Amino acid sequence: MNVVLTTLNSRYTHMSLSLRYLRAALERRFNLRASARAERVFADGSPTVPPEPGHTGVAGPGESPLNLRLLEFTINQPHEHILRTLFETKPDVLCFSVYIWNVEAILKLAASLKKVLPETVILFGGPESAFDSEAYLEHHDFIDVIVTGEGEEILGAYLERKLKKTEAYAISGLTERTAAGIINHGKAPLVSELDSIPFPYESEDFGAGRMLYYEASRGCPYRCAYCLSSREPGVRTFSLDRVKEDLARFIKAEVMQVKFVDRTFNVDSDRTREIFKFLIEKDNGITGFHFEITAALLRDQNFELLAKARPGLFQFEIGVQSTCDEAMTAVMRPLPFKKTSEVCRKLKALGNIHLHLDLIAGLPFETYERFLKSFDEVFNLRPHALQLGFLKLIPGSPLSEQAEKFGYVSESHPPYEVLGNAHINFAQLTSLKRIEALVDLFYNSGGFSVTLEAALEKSGQRPSAFFLGFSEFIRQRGYDQQVYRSEAHYGHLEAFLQAQSWYDPVFKTLLDYDCLVALAKRRSTTQAVDRQGWEPEESPALKAAIHEALRASAPDIPVKTLLKRIRYQIFDVDMSAWIEGRRDFGHADHGLWLGWVDTARRSSVSEHYDYAQARLEVTLWKS
Ligand code: SF4
Repeated sequence: MNVVLTTLNSRYTHMSLSLRYLRAALERRFNLRASARAERVFADGSPTVPPEPGHTGVAGPGESPLNLRLLEFTINQPHEHILRTLFETKPDVLCFSVYIWNVEAILKLAASLKKVLPETVILFGGPESAFDSEAYLEHHDFIDVIVTGEGEEILGAYLERKLKKTEAYAISGLTERTAAGIINHGKAPLVSELDSIPFPYESEDFGAGRMLYYEASRGCPYRCAYCLSSREPGVRTFSLDRVKEDLARFIKAEVMQVKFVDRTFNVDSDRTREIFKFLIEKDNGITGFHFEITAALLRDQNFELLAKARPGLFQFEIGVQSTCDEAMTAVMRPLPFKKTSEVCRKLKALGNIHLHLDLIAGLPFETYERFLKSFDEVFNLRPHALQLGFLKLIPGSPLSEQAEKFGYVSESHPPYEVLGNAHINFAQLTSLKRIEALVDLFYNSGGFSVTLEAALEKSGQRPSAFFLGFSEFIRQRGYDQQVYRSEAHYGHLEAFLQAQSWYDPVFKTLLDYDCLVALAKRRSTTQAVDRQGWEPEESPALKAAIHEALRASAPDIPVKTLLKRIRYQIFDVDMSAWIEGRRDFGHADHGLWLGWVDTARRSSVSEHYDYAQARLEVTLWKS
């Protein structure tokens, strides 16, 4: 029997954790890849996976009743390519892992595949189809089966029943289309011992540059009204030994990035501390770990520990959502911003943790003006990334049931984004969308950080006012109507700044700097030189001065070698002093500096290149 597990990921660098859980569970259940599985070694030294209690399987070692394939695509790949690829696998059972971001594309694929493969069982799993599975099957006649619970056990039981070719018996956690109509077999119990679930990844998954998802727990202690996780009771955890064993695999394989998908990673403070400690001790200098945490739960002793982490080892994502108490209370997330902001400041002060904060626009009671206040308060914490999200009214979430009460209007198709409510309208949300795009491009990218900071300071504006003004400028110029190469955005920011009454010529130099450390691309070294009336860069005297400065900076390395490795720029501002806070608005003529980045060395926190500079002896070559 050909069984294909498939999904559409949001990006190529992402990998589906759920498909890998299913693959591992099916391989174990049906004795597939028996030899590969035997290679596993548990933390306690036992050499292989213990047999699942109550499972005899339907095949002995070496026999393969299933041909199992895992095929992943991205939502950006052409429909036709995915359609033909899946068709050619000739699946007997085609299992789709369905989420809010891929459901539309998967529905299109499944509908077409059913037409060309009418005998194939089309099976859906994931929160998007599970909520009201009977209605879902009624609306989509090309879907045969929906897995409504945790798939590892349920899918295995379904395939086993199919292989046995016995009369269909009920399987909890399954809703299926039968000759007698649609049958919902009821809820399946949650997996009580998470350690019974095999490690999902195989060595070939540890390829270069991929980001791997991982979970140390399932469930969430919170009950946010806009989230489906709020419906699931309790938090279950993998044992600490199991988590450490899994993490050691990632570290040994030098995986680039591991993203914990635990809903609130730090719900248990002692366990959190133990995992942080393990990761700091076993750090390989390469692998980074991303966690979603609740700031208010981070205890003082965690900060002492976190201070020891390598810069870049940890990324924390904190869902602030809003600083408006009334809005937070309405969505059952009454986390006081005062405490959150204190923790964020402390984390930022450590200097080694990448801090990512989230906001959600469209919460009940939060007007446009009040949201701008939330934006300003969170922006002023200067996280490394600030994500402006927009509320989705997900069917089945408690908030969707209160839509009328709060005057919600939302899109009727996934991702069910809110179009307005009694306190904020569509035009205002559209204005916030523009801010979101600019924050992503100009702030979260980190590629404009020095210029942006200086411009915000010089303008004297609130961050929200600054971004609103910038977005209006971009709209009027039509820059938002086309896709530009990243270098073009420097020009857009420069044009905006030049149009302001508070413009300062130093912005031009700061943009050169940002361009250098973010892109490691040289703009024009002649700008700084021209501005001061000196010779252009072709000058032999200038070249000699540059070589001399480089030689002095690294006497052991030949200048020729250095020039191959670095990208440089000539500045008429002492950039090191500027970054340290010794600002010089007014752009006084103080001299020239050679600034450079070593393309072989990238900062792991900012992901930009480390900057170095040397003063140029301008008297050598002034014309
Ligand atoms: S939004 Fe996050 S914290 Fe809130 S219930 Fe959902 S998973 Fe839990």
